[in-house]
Amino acid sequence: MTVALAGSAYRTRHRACPACGADNAARPPGPYARDPWQVKACGGCGFVYLENVPVYEELADEHAWEKSAPAEGAARRRESPVLQGFSKTTRFRLHWFKRTRLADLARRHVPPGMVVDVGCGDGWQIANLPGDYVRCGIEISKDMAERARRALEPRGGFVACAPAVAGLNQLPEGRVSGVVMRSFLEHESDPAGALAGTARALAVGGALIVKVPNYGSLNRLVMGRKWCGFRWPDHVNYFTPRSLVAMVRAAGLEVAQFGLLDHLPTSDNMWLVARKG
Ligand SMILES: [Zn+2]
Repeated sequence: MTVALAGSAYRTRHRACPACGADNAARPPGPYARDPWQVKACGGCGFVYLENVPVYEELADEHAWEKSAPAEGAARRRESPVLQGFSKTTRFRLHWFKRTRLADLARRHVPPGMVVDVGCGDGWQIANLPGDYVRCGIEISKDMAERARRALEPRGGFVACAPAVAGLNQLPEGRVSGVVMRSFLEHESDPAGALAGTARALAVGGALIVKVPNYGSLNRLVMGRKWCGFRWPDHVNYFTPRSLVAMVRAAGLEVAQFGLLDHLPTSDNMWLVARKG
C-alpha cells in the first residue's frame, strides 16, 4: 500500500499489535491518529501504536529519520511556536544531563566488551560513551551508517547498515556486553523482534539500556496531540512503563533498573536497564 502526502509518498504495511499480536484492523483509529496515519489502541491489551507503518526500505534513504525529523520540527513550530521554543530550551539544558545519564547507566551495568548502539545515527553517541568498549552500531539510514563507519571503524568497531532485527542477528550469539536503544524503540516496527535479537546477542550478565518516550506521562495527558512524543509516522510504538517492562520480559530479559526516578510521570521519557540472566 502507498500513502500519499504532500510532495511525497510512503509505502506502508499493515501491522498487528506489536505487544500482544491482536489484529485491530476492524477498530477505528484513536484520538491520536493523524490522517493518513492510523494510530490505534489495541482492543486486546490497550497498547497504542501506528498500524500502517512505513516499510523499512522507506527509512533507508528517501524518508530516513534525519530527513523527516527536521520537517516535523518545522511543522510543530508553525502549529505551536511558544511551546516548541520552550521545549527546545529545555532540551538544550538537559542535553548534558541526558548524555551523562547514559554514561552513568553504562558504567553501572555494562561490563567491558562490545557495545552496540541500535539506531546509532552518525555514531556520535556511542563514540562519546566513556569506558573501555568496542563501539559498534546498527543504522538503517545509508547516509548515517556511512558517517558512523567513519567514526567507529578506525577504533575497531563496526557498523551494520540494516534494520535492527537483521543487524542484531548478524552479531555473534551470546558475546555482546551491552546494547543501547536510546530514542530507538519508539521508531521500530518490530520492537519485540529487536528485543529478542538483543537477548540472543547479549552475553550472560550483559545489559540493555533503553530510553523511550513515556506515553503514560502527565505531559501527554495535558498536551494531548501536541505532546512532543507524537511523531507521525516516525514514532510507531507508544510505551507506558508497564508495557515496556512486559515487552522486555517477554523477550527473556530481566529488569535490572527501572525505579520511579527512571520513569517519573513528570518526565516525557523513561529509562530502563535490562540484563540477560
Ligand atoms: Zn495488543
